[in-house]
Amino acid sequence: MNLKIMQSCEEKLLLDAPFPSFALNKNGQITIWNPICEQYLGYKKEDFKNINTLKDQLLSTLSENMWQRILDAQEFIRINNIQLLHKNETLSKADIIIIPCLINGEHSIAFYCFPEEQFAFLGDSEQELNDLKNGILSSFMVVNLDHEGFIISCNPLFLKTSKWTPKRVLKKNFWQLFPEDEESQQMADTIWNTISKGKIWQGDVQKTKKTGETYWVHLTAIPTYSQKEQKYSYILIEQDITNEKELQQKLEKIAYVDAETGLMNVHRLENVVKKMIAEQQNFYFVYLSIDKFYTLKELHNVEVESNFILEFTKRLKIYFQDSVLARVNESDFIVITPLGEWFIQGFLTYLKQHPIYIGHRAMPITISGGITRSPQDQSNFTQLMNASLATIADVRKAGGDNILSLSESAHKKLSRKSIIEKRLLLALDQHNLKVLYQPQVDLKTGKIYAVEAFVRWEDEEIGVVSPDELIPVAEESGLINNIGSFMIEEACKQAAQWQQQGIELKVGINLSVREFRDKNMAKFILDTLMKTGCPANLVQLEITEKFALEAEAETSIIQQMRKLEEEGITFVLDDFGTGYASFRYMQLLPIQILKIDQTYIQSLTKSDKTQRLINGIVHFGKSMNLTVLAEGVETEEQKQLLEQYDCDAIQGYLISKPVTADKIPQLLSS
Ligand code: C2E
Ligand code: CA
Ligand code: CA
Repeated sequence: MNLKIMQSCEEKLLLDAPFPSFALNKNGQITIWNPICEQYLGYKKEDFKNINTLKDQLLSTLSENMWQRILDAQEFIRINNIQLLHKNETLSKADIIIIPCLINGEHSIAFYCFPEEQFAFLGDSEQELNDLKNGILSSFMVVNLDHEGFIISCNPLFLKTSKWTPKRVLKKNFWQLFPEDEESQQMADTIWNTISKGKIWQGDVQKTKKTGETYWVHLTAIPTYSQKEQKYSYILIEQDITNEKELQQKLEKIAYVDAETGLMNVHRLENVVKKMIAEQQNFYFVYLSIDKFYTLKELHNVEVESNFILEFTKRLKIYFQDSVLARVNESDFIVITPLGEWFIQGFLTYLKQHPIYIGHRAMPITISGGITRSPQDQSNFTQLMNASLATIADVRKAGGDNILSLSESAHKKLSRKSIIEKRLLLALDQHNLKVLYQPQVDLKTGKIYAVEAFVRWEDEEIGVVSPDELIPVAEESGLINNIGSFMIEEACKQAAQWQQQGIELKVGINLSVREFRDKNMAKFILDTLMKTGCPANLVQLEITEKFALEAEAETSIIQQMRKLEEEGITFVLDDFGTGYASFRYMQLLPIQILKIDQTYIQSLTKSDKTQRLINGIVHFGKSMNLTVLAEGVETEEQKQLLEQYDCDAIQGYLISKPVTADKIPQLLSS
């Protein structure tokens, strides 16, 4: 019965919401499309056959990354300032709240959109407004607050649930609607801080009745600004979800235990570990994996296997008394313990002294384990898991049957990486990345005609992080897209600004292949050109040979590159000669400039062989109708040789190191 209530609740909420709201099921089909969606956005539900239509039309400005986050969301996500593409091809901005939920028994994702132009789309005939008001008042609890948070009115549904009498409730303030404990009051503060800045807040919160009993609501708190009084007042729209919450808690309990062993499962463990970290507890995170479990499984039947796991669990429980134990996988267990390393390693000996018998035969069993300390080694659940798995991989490589600690160097590498990731998020958020530009000179005219943009990051905590360290970490974590967008925007802005000052300079931007996996990359670049007023022919996108090799296999990347080329953007093949140079992709991809890698240039004057090679590369490039540029040119001698070979352009310390944008005009005149 409870489940029914839960379904109809979320569904009703979506359908009745006074703003565009819809839901997707796990197959990516739109299951709910409320009337306001159609009214405001213009699309009908039938317009969306599957998620791709949604991705390519309505939400086409969302990055692939963001989509992944949405599809994987375990809890509520809010994305501000998203562009919505209406059916009539106009754009509008909105904040979107995404909530994973259960609709008709299916895992679904609910989307609530809060357009910037709040409610302007609602019909404004008196009848329509009245219908809306009555609809909301009969389905939701509604409370009106003045600018200081005092209750000025509420509807009967609110009184019924909260058990307040109209007289009593009127002098109460916002905070008195929440339980008195610290956590709830903090929650109230958070909500208040959001709405008093003119933003909508939405989420599940616990509230208190007059009787002191608590109840759960799904709350939407909306600020409304009165031009006349120059003040905000607030509306709280609530739906009682106490039944759902109780059911959820029950389900969680079921979902949190490993049915076979009764140990907690990985979801529960994650919560336990998060809590321990929040409480700043010190502990060892021990990941134990039974070696060759699959061979064991194949040799025996299901019953034997199950007995074996139970016997193993028994030994874990006896040996690691008072520790947290979890089964995270068929043959993988985790122990959270304050006991020291030598004790943990002693478990292997204990297992040998207490073998597991199948029939009358002791089963040979070996364990590979990884010990990671928190907080010294790693300080969040994912890192603890990753670090332990990395250690286990090392143990296995060395033959298994051992429990080791995260090695010093692995530890340093992992923690440096996670620090970079963490600080990078902050840097992106606070716009702490900088751009330097390095000029490129046309050898025929001797003039600077282009600059290449490089990312620079000096973090106040971890110091300078060079691109060679930064880019691989960013690629792995997906943050490369954010760096890319930042660089594209900055470089285009700069090129447009120079052009306005009468300086016509092309700008080169380095891109990694991962950025082009985002299907909206071309669109993003073209939009940025429009936004910044930068002409397409001033942009040179640099891709590496590795990029080219991967792009060759992905038609969507090639299509995007071609589209950009048609618009007038130039592609540069960077680091030429270091990788997998191939005629095939050079014909397939729209490349106009070939950049000879600096390692060749640096050995240019040292060996005859390199000289012949570079001479050859220049001719090869020209025969393919490409412009040939040499990078890393540091000496006059190198430059002269390149001139002799008829190379078109050079770049390097000889001309200038990468410098800030304001230094470029001086270089042009010198
Ligand atoms: P790259 O695109 O091949 O850039 C050339 C690198 O050589 C730059 O290093 C540049 O500062 C340096 N360089 C330039 N002239 C000379 C010279 O005459 N001698 C020597 N020894 N070095 C010279 P940087 O800025 O550290 O960048 C390293 C690499 O990181 C770049 O190689 C590029 O692949 C990547 N990178 C830099 N910025 C970005 C970015 O914004 N996005 C992406 N995806 N990658 C970037
Ligand atoms: Ca480059
Ligand atoms: Ca290069």
